Amino acid sequence: MRTWVVDYPAPVDDGPLRRIDRDEPQPGPGQVRVRVTCCGVCRTDLHLAEGDLPPKRPSVAPGHEVVGRVDALGEGTRRFALGERVGVPWLGHTDGTCRFCRRGAENLCVDPLFTGWDRDGGYADACLADEGYVYRLPDELDDEHASPLLCAGIIGYRALRCAGVPPGGRLGIYGFGGSAHITAQIALHEGLRVHALTRGAGNQDLARQLGVDSVAGAADTPPEPLDGAILFAPAGELVPVAMRALDRGGTLAVAGIWLSDIPSLHYEAELFEERRLRSVTANTRANGEEFLSLARRFGIRPTTVAYPMADAPRALADLAHGRFSGAAVLHN
Ligand SMILES: [Zn+2]
Ligand SMILES: [Zn+2]
Repeated sequence: MRTWVVDYPAPVDDGPLRRIDRDEPQPGPGQVRVRVTCCGVCRTDLHLAEGDLPPKRPSVAPGHEVVGRVDALGEGTRRFALGERVGVPWLGHTDGTCRFCRRGAENLCVDPLFTGWDRDGGYADACLADEGYVYRLPDELDDEHASPLLCAGIIGYRALRCAGVPPGGRLGIYGFGGSAHITAQIALHEGLRVHALTRGAGNQDLARQLGVDSVAGAADTPPEPLDGAILFAPAGELVPVAMRALDRGGTLAVAGIWLSDIPSLHYEAELFEERRLRSVTANTRANGEEFLSLARRFGIRPTTVAYPMADAPRALADLAHGRFSGAAVLHN
């Protein structure tokens, strides 16, 4: 089968992705094989390709927003039938026994496996997944529009919960890309006031189309103090900016897996009055199921840009250079 792999991380314009042929993977016990129809392009794929995230092993296939059909079943599987449509997300496996798994925080598992980092992901004709970590997807969405839900959607949803905005409260969203534009839809449906703070005319237009309450530049001051904020842009310099925009007791949740260095904080202006700064690390399967059920109920629909699988390097480069708004999706 054909698959894109990362051998040596490098700047995206130097071509860190290489397309190779390798044998079809065979599902082990408890695993399903998924024939990939679509795979979303996540910023984490870019961090992997460029080396911001250290490679876990050589020649790993990126991609963890995988939509496809189950086409082989490993021993002991029972959740899915052959031909069923499923989604393979970032969280690929946890040990189920560590102190975090035992207390319901499997997102912090000390021995996890992630799709497209530890395990081969969906920039390929097929990939494997543990059936217990695979999702069913809303029937209302086709494969292209379902795929961004699997990471951009789920992680954004966890970040929204981590930001702890009370009912009817005020949410700031810093950076308005693939994850933010889905999270904003959830927040608006839940009745929050949403302020988008982002660069790029395309991203700002997308925020306006979705009906957010205000749109401004990333470093601008929102029109009202924020009860909570989510930083989606991988830009540490925005942390003090967002912390200053919080009201007393507000929380800034950093959604990304990678962030450039954070400048020093001014205690009184940027942290005192019980403002909180926290990161968001992966997600639990419960977060995923909750999000997908809300996405179904609210009719969440990502804005997507389609690329043929053969153009994965171009899709990643376009993401790096901000050449599209919404979420890129590769098609087999
Ligand atoms: Zn664990
Ligand atoms: Zn992702």
